[in-house]
Amino acid sequence: MTGRKKKIYEGKAKILYEGPEPGTLIQYFKDDATAFNAQKKAVLEGKGVINNRISEFVMTRLAAIGVQNHFIRRLNLREQLIREVEIIPLEVICRNVAAGSLSQRLGIEEGTPLPRSIIEFCYKNDELGDPMVTEEHITAFNWATTQELDDILAMTVRVNDFLTGLFAGVGIMLVDFKIEFGRVYEGDFARVILADEISPDSCRLWDMVSGEKLDKDRFRRDLGNVIESYTEVARRLGIMKDMPTVIQGGLH
Ligand code: UDP
Repeated sequence: MTGRKKKIYEGKAKILYEGPEPGTLIQYFKDDATAFNAQKKAVLEGKGVINNRISEFVMTRLAAIGVQNHFIRRLNLREQLIREVEIIPLEVICRNVAAGSLSQRLGIEEGTPLPRSIIEFCYKNDELGDPMVTEEHITAFNWATTQELDDILAMTVRVNDFLTGLFAGVGIMLVDFKIEFGRVYEGDFARVILADEISPDSCRLWDMVSGEKLDKDRFRRDLGNVIESYTEVARRLGIMKDMPTVIQGGLH
């Protein structure tokens, strides 16, 4: 199937193909993992299948509470039909607990709860290493309008509140996550919707009891059992029932 479709864009973990109708795309989840601006690379067999399912699950539930997003429906193990959007070149990071680059930058020990949720923006640009930017840069360089930024902030807070509860319900702490947004045009009017993916590649997820990391830090930090941990997240969310047995049994 995939071979016949026109490739629109290939990223580090996903490929976008032309969709069956105008205004749609097919998002294909690869098994490739990269970290540290693609200096570290690996193929994690089955990752794409799990992330396709986790992202479907999360996006569907977010749509149900009114957080509009690009997900239309899952097509097969690795592909989902999505709305084509004009990507806003920002990585929107939301943090509840100190970890990763925030801990390094500010000298706050990983695992320290933050006084309140903090939203940060990075400019999506691989050559520059996705530098952190402020709202001033975003509006001055026209990456997003003030109104769009307001919408992005409001949606990010809703995503954080919803996901924090969703994961807490299955014994997982949502430490932080990264999301992206895009514009859809309705006549002259542009609206911002949630795009990209939400998966253990883009979230920090810690087991609430053991503190064990169940996310991409297992790959970044060579902790092992990456697929097993992603599978555990899917299992706890209740989406393992109809996964292929090769993944249900674990891939070693
Ligand atoms: N993140 C991401 N893509 C990126 C950078 C960060 O998905 O290019 C996610 C990351 O998985 C974590 C959150 O955003 O859940 C915050 O990441 P951080 O700024 O701490 O960067 P890192 O320590 O991963 O370099």
